[in-house]
Amino acid sequence: MSKINIHQIREQFPILKCTVYGKPLAYFDNAATTHKPDRVVRKIKEVYESMNSNIHRGVHYLSNQATMAYEQARNKVQIFINAAHSHEVIFTSGATGAINLLANSFADTYLSEGDEIIISHMEHHSNIVPWQMVCKRKKALLKVIPINSHGELLLDEFEKLLSTKTKLVAVTYVSNTLGTVNPIEEIIEKTHANNSLMMVDASQAVQHLKVDVKTMDTDFLVFSGHKIYGPTGTGVLYGKEKLLNEMEPWQGGGEMIKNVSFEQTTYNELPFKFEAGTPNIAGSIALGEAIDFVSELGIENIAEYEDELLNYATEQFLQIPGMRIFGTASKKASVISFLVNDIHPFDMGTLLDKMGLAVRTGHHCTQPIIDYFGIPGTLRASIAVYNTKEEIDRLVAGITKVAQMFG
Ligand code: PMP
Repeated sequence: MSKINIHQIREQFPILKCTVYGKPLAYFDNAATTHKPDRVVRKIKEVYESMNSNIHRGVHYLSNQATMAYEQARNKVQIFINAAHSHEVIFTSGATGAINLLANSFADTYLSEGDEIIISHMEHHSNIVPWQMVCKRKKALLKVIPINSHGELLLDEFEKLLSTKTKLVAVTYVSNTLGTVNPIEEIIEKTHANNSLMMVDASQAVQHLKVDVKTMDTDFLVFSGHKIYGPTGTGVLYGKEKLLNEMEPWQGGGEMIKNVSFEQTTYNELPFKFEAGTPNIAGSIALGEAIDFVSELGIENIAEYEDELLNYATEQFLQIPGMRIFGTASKKASVISFLVNDIHPFDMGTLLDKMGLAVRTGHHCTQPIIDYFGIPGTLRASIAVYNTKEEIDRLVAGITKVAQMFG
């Protein structure tokens, strides 16, 4: 019996009541962004209405209130991912911002000509392009762990890629296109056995399964706030204290300094060294509220409920004639990528939209995966905690109807 009270949850998301072309909305684009519970939206309003002020630099009341709330949000993230220290949590503009920060700081500190970085074939573009850019700048080499036709990483091939030159392995925990849950602890173990460092992209993991940086022992981890019921423009870079202390900052400006003169600048302590300029204060505070929402429901309860929905949806999808699911790994979370016969994903997506069924179409910022399967893109249905079996039934009926229209 699921511990999720779906009625109570849906009540907290007013947007779920909206209609699209006169049809009730069924939202299955959660891997792109989740909706926000009203407590998160209210928190943003509350910050601007009752404590709007710049943080860390003020002696006045409002500035202290805002600073306290911002640092409290950092503590919430720390506890949520089980980091040893709150100063190991760097607030960023999102996963993309976090990876760009890490790539540049990491490269400036640890990467030399001829060194190697390993990513995988199933990475989001934001975990490919920043590494390509720094590898080009540093004359380092980017290597790629291949996948099989189920959308699983080939771990034997990964071991062959590891060498004394490998400085970092940066891999996603859950694929945003295939839904594959990678054996991340095994990958981290192999990486550390090779004396290399590890970054986990948890953008599609933190909202679906327990992520514990201490247990997995990752060196770095990133995620976006807006995929875990928080605001857009928020995100997190987690890093082990020792490494963050060693690393060069990426962006310069206010807040990240201790002393500035024209001759020499000294940098602030963690986490401020990596948070140049005025941050997204209200956004990060509201991300803390989103984390409270998830924590109060219990991530294990969310995982159990979503798994039930995913299994149900997969079974129902497979009943549809001509259905092809991309990503058939034994362990998956939230995502079903699919095509039906030769119907172009944009055509089907557009017709589903007319029925109030919101899915994503295209390459999902993972062009190498789409190229691997030799397809024009996929339709992607991704599940969040507010979805229901009834919505899945509507989606299955919608897909079936579109398939019939195309003969
Ligand atoms: N990594 C993964 C696995 C993602 O799914 C996404 C977003 N689709 C990102 C990174 C980038 O996140 P953002 O665009 O919020 O920075």
